Amino acid sequence: MAPVCNLMVPEQRRWDYDAVTDLFNARDRELILKIPLSSHRDSDLWHWLAEPCGKFSVRSCYKLMTYDAHKCASSVWKRLWRLDVSGKVKNLMWRAANNVLPTADNLRSRKVQVSPLCSVCNASNESVLHTLVDCGFAKSCWIASPVGYTGHLPSFLAWLGHIFSRCSKEECNLAATICWKLWTHCNDKVWNNRCGRVHQILNSAGHMLYQWQVLRKQVMLADAVASSVVHGAVCWERPPVGWAKCNVDAAVFHSQSLVSYGCVVRNSEGMFLAASCDRFLGKFGAREAEAEALGVREALSWLKHLHLPRVIIEMDCLQVFKALSDKHSNPNGFGLIIEECRFLSQNLREVQFSFVRRSANAAAHSVAKVGGSKSDYSEWRGVPPRWLLNHL
Ligand SMILES: [Zn+2]
Repeated sequence: MAPVCNLMVPEQRRWDYDAVTDLFNARDRELILKIPLSSHRDSDLWHWLAEPCGKFSVRSCYKLMTYDAHKCASSVWKRLWRLDVSGKVKNLMWRAANNVLPTADNLRSRKVQVSPLCSVCNASNESVLHTLVDCGFAKSCWIASPVGYTGHLPSFLAWLGHIFSRCSKEECNLAATICWKLWTHCNDKVWNNRCGRVHQILNSAGHMLYQWQVLRKQVMLADAVASSVVHGAVCWERPPVGWAKCNVDAAVFHSQSLVSYGCVVRNSEGMFLAASCDRFLGKFGAREAEAEALGVREALSWLKHLHLPRVIIEMDCLQVFKALSDKHSNPNGFGLIIEECRFLSQNLREVQFSFVRRSANAAAHSVAKVGGSKSDYSEWRGVPPRWLLNHL
């Protein structure tokens, strides 16, 4: 063992930069060169930094080792276990946050002979943070989702802390489910050489979360819905051939006691067919679901005039969607609007209801917003208004 003074220039009281560079990696070199050297001669001594007196204690050592974990853990772990997602998704998040997923870097550190490169992009080394956040494919998924891409962070745990502090509860649930889908996508690439698409990942994550939420609340959806309708989608999808899709949304303007709704109809090629909006003065504002149900009611009576053979009516309000899918309704204001919706849907040849996330309902949302500022009913057929183009 060589003494520390070998790393100093004799008689000059400074570090020997060349010696330090030769012997240590960049991180250690930085740390060593940062240590100031005394200008007067003293004999070397051991000093334990974690105790003010400089003497080692097991207690301070334990504190030092668990400090980082305690600091973020208390809040991040608590939030993690409180996520409203299935057990297997929580478990994956826990393993990812503890960096124990079998990614290439973790396998190699256990002497498993695998390529260090990411199996999805083949461009960077594979780690938990890379696979779930920074990989080009993962990044595209985050950018296209309501969660967004955070930029590079030092660890997956830091990323999780960032998401928890910045996103709504529902967005956190979705972020965890997207992580699950990214992880299964990575495995599918390794074992079956199958590549997914961004929209597929996001919509299957949205659907998985929807299924969990329906299951957990034990809501039985009475009406069998076509397998072509994937509930809970994050990105808008075209309806199947032979179907049109009408997206509906409502906007509540509390200060003006005003409710507006907007509908946008597109065909199976994703082409714009028609849109309409209107507003109502009233006290609907107290209950958003009532306003949403009202929007669906208006959409149904409007669709009758469009003579479309088969229509999927898509909304982002789970409460209205559940009520419409259920056979029974309560004899209150909301229940009566739902009853009216059921009655009106009998006038159409074939109707299905679909639930999507807000991000997939952006077109109807923007029409509903405009509806609030118009003085009366507005309708567009064939050609969409200019301000709507960005949302289609
Ligand atoms: Zn990658």
